[in-house]
Amino acid sequence: MPTHVNFGEKLVTPEEKTALVGGVFSSVARRYDLMNDLMSGGMHRLWKDRFVSRVKPRPGEHILDMAGGTGDVAFRMARRGAQVTVSDINPDMLSVGMERASARGIDGLVWQVENAETLTFADQSFDAYTIAFGIRNVTDIPAALKEAHRVLRRGGRFFVLEFSTSEWPGFGEAYERYADRVIPRVGKLVADDEESYRYLVESIRRFPRPDQFRAMIANAGFVRTKVETLLGGLVCIWSGWRI
Ligand code: SAM
Repeated sequence: MPTHVNFGEKLVTPEEKTALVGGVFSSVARRYDLMNDLMSGGMHRLWKDRFVSRVKPRPGEHILDMAGGTGDVAFRMARRGAQVTVSDINPDMLSVGMERASARGIDGLVWQVENAETLTFADQSFDAYTIAFGIRNVTDIPAALKEAHRVLRRGGRFFVLEFSTSEWPGFGEAYERYADRVIPRVGKLVADDEESYRYLVESIRRFPRPDQFRAMIANAGFVRTKVETLLGGLVCIWSGWRI
């Protein structure tokens, strides 16, 4: 790990970054779902549907939804009969998720606070591992990828949904302008929290390009790695297998 890492555009120590990211998600937890709809024009729902259709959860299989937050991806997989453990470093996000699950009558999920970099699960515990819009917030991404590999059984599937860089001419720039100007303002209006939303925008900008991140997944030991681009790569689904 380098001595300093980016928290948005600022350089901080790795420990400070983890604490600052924790502060962001504690602050946004209550408004997180509403803000997701506002920021993406509801499109995050379609991206998550597509993501889960790629995961193809099967009844009875054990899936770890890492950085699972308020449960959006976990609920979709549980509805298909999978046994889902929702883990997140932030207990406030998980509390909102547990309330949402009971309001929707979704039970059987396991909710567990975990840092993606240092999981407490035994080796080869899961059939699949998912992480949606979570990996860019993790301080030591290679460590999290190695942990994902460790907790998957042989033949296990690994999936990441995350913002990256659109290759469509002009679209990436237009999105950046929208993100820079609009998202922090909406964050201020709706959640009275401009800073947290500025961090979210900056963390999107800093995430590796689709092929670079695919190489990072391969470096962690996954095989048959793939990347599917949505909106020219603004959002991507990466996958790989543990053998
Ligand atoms: N997966 C959910 C979704 O798609 O709606 C939540 C995504 S939210 C943008 C990012 C989540 O990553 C937050 O809940 C945050 O607490 C979590 N997170 C950040 N760093 C983490 C880490 N090191 N380990 C586990 N979760 C982490």
